Amino acid sequence: MTSTAFDRSHPNPALVAASLSGSTLAPFWLDGLDRPSFPTFTGDRSFDLVVVGGGYTGLWTALLAKERNPDARIAVLEAREIGWAASGRNGGFCEASLTHGEVNGQNRFPKELEQLERLGMENLDEIEATVGARGWKVDFERTGTLSVAIEPYQIDELRTAANGSTEIFFDQSAIQSEVASETYLAGLWSTRSTALVHPGKLAAELARSCVESGVEIFEHSVVRGLGRGASADEVWVETREGSARAAKVALATNAFPSLLKRYRLHTVPVYDYVLMTEPLTDEQLASIGWGNRQGIADLANQFHYYRLSADNRILWGGYDAIYHYGGSIKPEYDDRPQTFEKLARHFFATFPQLEGIRFSHRWAGVIDTSSRFCAFFGQARQGRVSYAAGFTGLGVAATRFAANVMLDHLSGVETERTSLEMVRSMPLPFPPEPAAYLGVQATRWGLNRADHNEGKRNLLLKSLDAVGLGFDS
Ligand SMILES: Cc1cc2nc3c(=O)[nH]c(=O)nc-3n(C[C@H](O)[C@H](O)[C@H](O)COP(=O)(O)OP(=O)(O)OC[C@H]3O[C@@H](n4cnc5c(N)ncnc54)[C@H](O)[C@@H]3O)c2cc1C
Repeated sequence: MTSTAFDRSHPNPALVAASLSGSTLAPFWLDGLDRPSFPTFTGDRSFDLVVVGGGYTGLWTALLAKERNPDARIAVLEAREIGWAASGRNGGFCEASLTHGEVNGQNRFPKELEQLERLGMENLDEIEATVGARGWKVDFERTGTLSVAIEPYQIDELRTAANGSTEIFFDQSAIQSEVASETYLAGLWSTRSTALVHPGKLAAELARSCVESGVEIFEHSVVRGLGRGASADEVWVETREGSARAAKVALATNAFPSLLKRYRLHTVPVYDYVLMTEPLTDEQLASIGWGNRQGIADLANQFHYYRLSADNRILWGGYDAIYHYGGSIKPEYDDRPQTFEKLARHFFATFPQLEGIRFSHRWAGVIDTSSRFCAFFGQARQGRVSYAAGFTGLGVAATRFAANVMLDHLSGVETERTSLEMVRSMPLPFPPEPAAYLGVQATRWGLNRADHNEGKRNLLLKSLDAVGLGFDS
């Protein structure tokens, strides 16, 4: 076993504790956010489309459905508030990839990867066009991403991926002049593949545009189940205080239990943790450089993702991925001191020049992990119900693509999207407990060992790779 750059660095424990001591346990993006609020759903109403879930998937589905058919009567039913879950807690990396990265796409859908990459880039370009056309204030910056090598064995992967135009390789001195961290050994700037956004503002702007287009949004309206409507053409959607009869239903419930029982084992909820610093002073920012403001990710299996906000804070997240027995989701899991402390240590190992800076916010969010690490698409009730989930931590942009797939399915037309193998095939479900818990823990252990062994994968990881369950970040 070899040590990693983070094992070798020992930031002062008192400094790490002080950096976290005043932080608020809440997503920075939602703190003080100017967002509309909506009534609870009551009564017995009839709609052309009911969307369950008010995150990006649900809101894009409603908005795009209105763009396709302005007269459609559409409702969004959200259990809590719009964007409170993953959509308001993420890193804001709005990425073209629909497959959770090129390597994952290459392993799973080699025949259509080129097509998926084109469709993903078109999706990102369309998001950028929508932001511009609708005047959304979402701090959209198409800066691209920097992948950074922090161990020697990671350098070649970056060098090979360079193409001299949109994929630019930086050697050690070039990457350290781009962003000043002594842990960096090389870097690759993918200039077009990613935009950074303010996640909370994106959810709020989506909701505003939905309402302007005539969509009705309801909050604090948990959907308890789907039933048969009075006529065969209807689906009955039941909440505590009302019921909606819908010609079509789109399920956009992400990591929460699927309303279609057959898909309950197709995702497991995994917690991801994030820190946000206070705004950097001009001197602090100058000590890092980072003039091109890219989103950054390091390359190990357990990786960090980090970026600047519009007001020059640093968001620093990732590394630990925590699964709780039985797939439970509870508010108390949001605070995990040992993970926040680890993240803070790794932050100061990367940027020791920021010694003394404090974290203003710390939070967690739940990721809908699927066994193939990218979205899958289900249908039920003779095509009247459509479902998309499984984004596995890469859904800021991919949710819009998924919304279009659901609408294609609901309209019953065959499109380029619906003919994709990625859309037609399903991932393997996870096993029931206790096997799911044991499997996730063994996989995490194996990934950690690989990170300490120049990326070399153990027998379990190789076996998972062989049956199409392997993960490569
Ligand atoms: C910490 C973190 C960091 C991330 N970083 C990134 C990133 O940088 N880039 C990226 O691309 N992706 C990232 N992701 C993933 C991304 O945030 C998600 O893929 C995306 O937000 C999923 O959107 P969604 O609408 O499907 O889910 P959600 O935002 O989770 O919305 C689902 C909604 O459904 C509602 N719901 C569930 N069940 C019911 C019910 N029965 N009745 C009514 N409503 C219901 C929930 O209340 C919730 O609001 C991150 C995720 C996390 C947690």
